[in-house]
Amino acid sequence: MHDNVSADEYGSADPRYEGWPTGRSAEASGVSRPGVSHSEVNVPAGPTVASPIVAPPYGSRPVAPSAAYSAAEGVPGQVRQTTPARPPVPVDGYAETGTAMTDADVSRETEDPPLAQEAERAVKILNPSGEITMPRPTHRRVICVANQKGGVGKTTTAVNIAVALALHGNRVLVIDLDPQGNASTGLNVPHHAGVPDVYDCLIDSTPLADVTQPVDGIPNLACVPATIDLAGAEIELVSVVARESRLARAIQGCATEYDYIFIDCPPSLGLLTVNALVAAQEVLIPIQCEYYALEGVQALTSNIGLVKSHLNPHLDISTVLLTMYDRRTRLADLVEQDVRAHFGEKVLQAVIPRNVRVSEAPSYSQSVMTYDPGSRGAISYFEAAQEIAERGARVGGLA
Ligand code: ADP
Ligand code: MG
Repeated sequence: MHDNVSADEYGSADPRYEGWPTGRSAEASGVSRPGVSHSEVNVPAGPTVASPIVAPPYGSRPVAPSAAYSAAEGVPGQVRQTTPARPPVPVDGYAETGTAMTDADVSRETEDPPLAQEAERAVKILNPSGEITMPRPTHRRVICVANQKGGVGKTTTAVNIAVALALHGNRVLVIDLDPQGNASTGLNVPHHAGVPDVYDCLIDSTPLADVTQPVDGIPNLACVPATIDLAGAEIELVSVVARESRLARAIQGCATEYDYIFIDCPPSLGLLTVNALVAAQEVLIPIQCEYYALEGVQALTSNIGLVKSHLNPHLDISTVLLTMYDRRTRLADLVEQDVRAHFGEKVLQAVIPRNVRVSEAPSYSQSVMTYDPGSRGAISYFEAAQEIAERGARVGGLA
């Protein structure tokens, strides 16, 4: 049914999207959520461009003024005009200007704007002309973000690409499958003990819709959180019937019409990751640009091969994303060459730089897309999301 839906029909309040999470689960569990409720948000989801316009080549997109404020480079070319005052976070390597600014230099709002305004602002900065569209896929794409190494950018990638796609009219669900709950934190979705979560789907066969929560301020984005309960799931699953396909069943039983479901995997190759691989059609592997980058990926690819041959013939590595690229080092360059030689066209042209704004964003319970849309991290994730959307549309989906 996606085929004939125009961009301006994606409004989150659209009653045709049956089953779209309303926050019921959160309310039922007594969770109080900060900020505006999802239903109150009244922001157009993405640009309302009638006909798709061919996007300019990557890198040629006009960069918003705030992009000049590149923390990694340490020399702010221009102070962001609309960023609200925020409590300072001590982060190594982030150089503030140090110079006193007058009112004429900078116009800072004194309070956080509503979350919905942040989303609107993000779209305006990332896609000023509204020309770039992220076409909806012809069928639901279930993408597992996996790498058994910790700290390579799985969660950051799942969260930011999901937000970028949602801001541009795609209906997106993020399933947090890591007991650490970092994706839930990054999306500001309650995930303290007692909140219905992905554990309930895996162990108690609770329907996915009953544990799904809307993401405040981002129309079209929802999240299945992970609570501390999930820590025991890996062991409890061992004795459960059809233990490898519990998540697949939960997703198959979900009637909500998502365009994308991203599954954020834990840093292991245990039963949780196997459940994600069985549930997905595509694997997105984030690879950190550092020494030993490809080591361990071998184990992941052979696991993917095993799941493909025994449990899920539809599974494929569709996307590889280079993360935390530090262009000052020759090593990053060598790693990039290696990864491109190994994975070929699966590697996205967009490369995510090491950028302090990316690592700051979660401490404000935001993605970098809304926290600082003009930062190099946000722009790169925007480009990566655009590539993922265009690839899916070009081949009619990758499943
Ligand atoms: P994983 O989910 O693979 O364990 P994370 O996404 O949690 O990895 O990232 C690990 C850490 O690195 C986090 O603190 C995150 O904020 C930081 N990080 C991720 N990507 C970047 C980036 N591009 N630049 C700077 N820091 C990053
Ligand atoms: Mg993670």
